[in-house]
Amino acid sequence: SSYSRIAAVTGGNKGVGLACVRQLALKYPQSSLNNGPFLIYLTARNQERGEKALNDILQDLQLKEAKALQKDGGLSDVKYLPLDIDSQDSIKSFAATLKKEHPEGIDILLNNAGVALDGFDASVVKKTLHCNYYGTMEAVNQILPQIKDGGRIVNVASIAGTLDSKYAAPIRQRFLDAQKTDEITALMEEFTTAVEKNQYEGTWPGAAYKVSKAGVIGMTKTLAMDNARTGSKTLINSCCPGYVNTDMTKGRGAKTPDEGAQTPVLLALGDIEGSNANFWYNGKITPW
Ligand code: NDP
Repeated sequence: SSYSRIAAVTGGNKGVGLACVRQLALKYPQSSLNNGPFLIYLTARNQERGEKALNDILQDLQLKEAKALQKDGGLSDVKYLPLDIDSQDSIKSFAATLKKEHPEGIDILLNNAGVALDGFDASVVKKTLHCNYYGTMEAVNQILPQIKDGGRIVNVASIAGTLDSKYAAPIRQRFLDAQKTDEITALMEEFTTAVEKNQYEGTWPGAAYKVSKAGVIGMTKTLAMDNARTGSKTLINSCCPGYVNTDMTKGRGAKTPDEGAQTPVLLALGDIEGSNANFWYNGKITPW
């Protein structure tokens, strides 16, 4: 392709994801990655919302282009592609499109898509884990083969995924000790079963989103360690964007989406001194 660098952002049509697309475009020219034209795929599960967001962002970037982009000799471009991380077929066809369009591979995958559903029961748990945990993991597994060695994968988790006192100590320890992704997935399955049987109290938090994000932090760590063992130089980390004012937080967040994009974009483009398998919060590696 005619691009020197390529990135993809999931859930790119609004909130933190859209801000990540914008910040990648604006920060790329000054980044050490800049070696020519940059293409960012704004992906979304809904075509209408995705294309509307693409039009808005292209206008926004044109306004800023003279100042932020052309001056430094880099040039960022944005295109839309469909991607629903709840659908294995959608992830497969996205990965196939990448392979066809960019046989040389892509540089950055930023997994931002996620849901926070109201209520707490087995159905909410299954839907939440399906998207936030299994969907994110499937996206990493399907797209990792297209990531150039030395590229970056960023999974947006949350500080809500911290292993606090709402978990029984042995469960917390199993999260911390996990070396293989299957061990994290087994914990997600146990949580689901415990909620189905209404036997989670005292062992698990009564919050699907919180456990799904603990899963994302753990899965990122184990996948990243596994990938590094193959000799790959690709850096895979998870992060929290902070408490951001988006539809998810129903206008309650303290940060703007552009502020929320700072840590994910740092992990995608910035100097992170070789960090791999870590969880980042407020621009720093943070204990789980
Ligand atoms: P929003 O609800 O504003 O945006 C979520 C985005 O994810 C939307 O683009 C949505 O698309 C997309 N999405 C949801 N499900 C899927 C799917 N199956 N496939 C593809 N895209 C999907 O939330 P935020 O911007 O606030 O959140 C972004 C990420 O940051 C999430 O992972 C969230 O958990 C995390 N986070 C947010 C915090 C905050 O304070 N806002 C705090 C900590 C973490 P659609 O428009 O079609 O619904």
